[in-house]
Amino acid sequence: MKTEITENNFALIRCNQCHSSNWRKEDKNLNCCDCDNSYAFNENNQLISLKDHIDDENWEKVTTSFNLFKDDPKPIKKDKLGGPRISELKEKFKIKGVAINLGSGQDNYDGFLNIDLGSYKPVDIVADLKNIPIIENSVDLVASNSVLEHIYDFQKVIEEVFRILKPKGYFYLCVPSACLRHHEFDYHRWTTPGLHKLMENRFDVIDSGSARGVGYALITFGDALISYKIQSILVKKLLSSFWRFFSKPLLWIKDDPTEEYQAMSETIYVIGRKI
Ligand SMILES: [Zn+2]
Repeated sequence: MKTEITENNFALIRCNQCHSSNWRKEDKNLNCCDCDNSYAFNENNQLISLKDHIDDENWEKVTTSFNLFKDDPKPIKKDKLGGPRISELKEKFKIKGVAINLGSGQDNYDGFLNIDLGSYKPVDIVADLKNIPIIENSVDLVASNSVLEHIYDFQKVIEEVFRILKPKGYFYLCVPSACLRHHEFDYHRWTTPGLHKLMENRFDVIDSGSARGVGYALITFGDALISYKIQSILVKKLLSSFWRFFSKPLLWIKDDPTEEYQAMSETIYVIGRKI
């Protein structure tokens, strides 16, 4: 079952103008009782908490202005992931309360409230992740996968996650490390010590590791290089088929939990517990 915004959880919603959580539902609007702010439910029953949001699919359209694989779709079908999956986190940490997928995009996991800047179908609340319309100390789990690199001032997102989580609440954060740039708005990469520093004084790190390993990184770098450097379509096709075939064993490289392996990984994750 999907978590949705209904009268039962209006008290969870924070006014991003006056920080109140007293709401009056009137028609398709949620009106703040303490200031003149109001959020609207759109035709898909998504709560829109900001004016300039991204419409469904616009994000993908934006990315065509920077795309390393213009003529050539990304080759890797088999998505082997290390560490826990977002779908397993609630059970793993025995979460009974509110769980949020922050920057959820097209993802839709059972029991998660989906928050994103874009109004993708599974999204429940359309919001600025630097000003999350959720009251403080109310959430048991926040998961965020491959989102932070798209937000230039990502520190504000971390502060917001800290604010909305209950003490001892869990924060799963997965970000790119040895990863190709993949969008017009793609600003950052992280290392394991960088993630530990980001958690410092706010979260105790209880786990960290590689999500997409070195094999994935090497294959996509090789593929991007062929796609970018080779002019002749025929030679490009031949070379990529050759590379895809002979690079396959790179996916067999066994993941391991060391910092050295994380340093070569495409994406890395950290799990913190709010202090
Ligand atoms: Zn208000």
